[in-house]
Amino acid sequence: MSIRLRLTAWYTGILFVTLLAFSSAVYGFVHLYTYEELKQRIVNQVDKVAFGTNGFEIVPSKDSADRLEAADLYMQNYSFHNGQIWRSDNMIYSGLQFEVPSTNNIAKANNAFTRVHLNGSTFLVYQTAFTDSNKLVLWLQVGANTRTIEQTLDRLQSILIMGSAATLVIASTLGLFLARKSMKPIGKVTEAADLIQKGTDLSVRIEYDGPEDEIGQLIGTFNGMLERTEGFYKELEDAYAAQRRFVSDASHELRTPLTTIRGNVDLLQKMWTEAPGERANMDEETMKQISAEAVGDISDEAKRMSRLVSDMLSLARADTGQTFERDPVPLQLLVEEVARRAQFLEKTAEWHVGELSVLNGVYVEGNKDYLQQMLFIFIENAFKYTPEGEVSLDVVLYRGQVGIRIADTGIGMDKDEVPFIFERFYRADQSRGVTSGTGLGLSIAKWIIDEHKGSVEVVTRRGEGSTFIIWLPTIFAPPLE
Ligand code: ADP
Repeated sequence: MSIRLRLTAWYTGILFVTLLAFSSAVYGFVHLYTYEELKQRIVNQVDKVAFGTNGFEIVPSKDSADRLEAADLYMQNYSFHNGQIWRSDNMIYSGLQFEVPSTNNIAKANNAFTRVHLNGSTFLVYQTAFTDSNKLVLWLQVGANTRTIEQTLDRLQSILIMGSAATLVIASTLGLFLARKSMKPIGKVTEAADLIQKGTDLSVRIEYDGPEDEIGQLIGTFNGMLERTEGFYKELEDAYAAQRRFVSDASHELRTPLTTIRGNVDLLQKMWTEAPGERANMDEETMKQISAEAVGDISDEAKRMSRLVSDMLSLARADTGQTFERDPVPLQLLVEEVARRAQFLEKTAEWHVGELSVLNGVYVEGNKDYLQQMLFIFIENAFKYTPEGEVSLDVVLYRGQVGIRIADTGIGMDKDEVPFIFERFYRADQSRGVTSGTGLGLSIAKWIIDEHKGSVEVVTRRGEGSTFIIWLPTIFAPPLE
């Protein structure tokens, strides 16, 4: 049984019980009140009845009889003396006569009401005895036809039953409609969940413009959950795609040096294992020269491979979420050491180092080795991509951040290449095949900067040079100048 049917059944049931109790109370009250009022009217009239004589008989006076008749009451008088029965005119006219109780029942019936059925009507009759010196004289019976009251009560009963039935029907129909309306959004939740379960479309959202009630909250939560799940799924998908790209790029990058190495090894093998007679026309000197070149190639490629492998390892470690120990690092010492060691790098451009004393007392929370590695990546690149001109390093402090600027006057880049240079294996067109490199350096540098909660700014123009500013948050205020 669905919730909406159950809900409707419940409140229809409750309404039924309430209506039953209410109708019974109304009916009971009206019934009691009307009959009490009639009884009161009869007793009042009986109290006022006066008697006179009719020959030898004692009968109600004409006045009393008239008054009772006017009040729509019927009066009968029984004389114990001679057994004569006197009836009011309306009784005679309607052919009515009340039964007189037997002497044994007189005591029980005295001063009490009884119901009498005569000629198809019901009468409420009050009976009272008149005595003289403890001797029964008269038995007075005054009754009223209860037809009007009964009709009114019957009508009230019908109205209550019909009204209650109509209310029940209307309430249950409306209830079912309301229950269906309020349960409709839940149906939508089920539909959406079903859609997701059957397919992979996580972009489904439940449309709801109702109030922020329990259902509104449920839908809000469900949509929020979908949003987060979609976000996670997208992240996962992106990460998976990146991983696949990385693996395919890595295998491609590794294949090139391997092919060169294998080619050279084959050449050497062929050259030195062939019998002297079968060798091509080559003297010893030429063979040695070719061998030296081949070994040189092998060594270069092996170096390139080991650099590639170590870069890939760093990134793989970064991908697993591995992080490093952090301590407050004094920046002046660190940058000075990097600047000193940079002058020994292979280079064709001049090396300029600006004033580093502003870094005195400036610390960053981080890892010294990784910070150095990151700076070397930028400096090596600057040298690599600056065939002539100069490469400079200087520092600046700004709003709790230190900016380390590495500028060169080298080949620069196109503006639209900048967004990609931090991607793995990306190498700008003009670098490919011209300078050696793996395309992984800046990805590693970016990861190190991110881990230090820093950022990097790039300004570059093709043919004019590039400037990289690495911003890192400092942990102590710089000294006042
Ligand atoms: P690579 O091993 O190729 O240097 P990187 O990740 O360090 O790999 O750099 C990615 C690409 O960004 C480089 O191939 C090069 O095209 C460009 N690049 C990086 N630094 C510079 C620079 N100082 N001047 C010009 N181009 C640069």
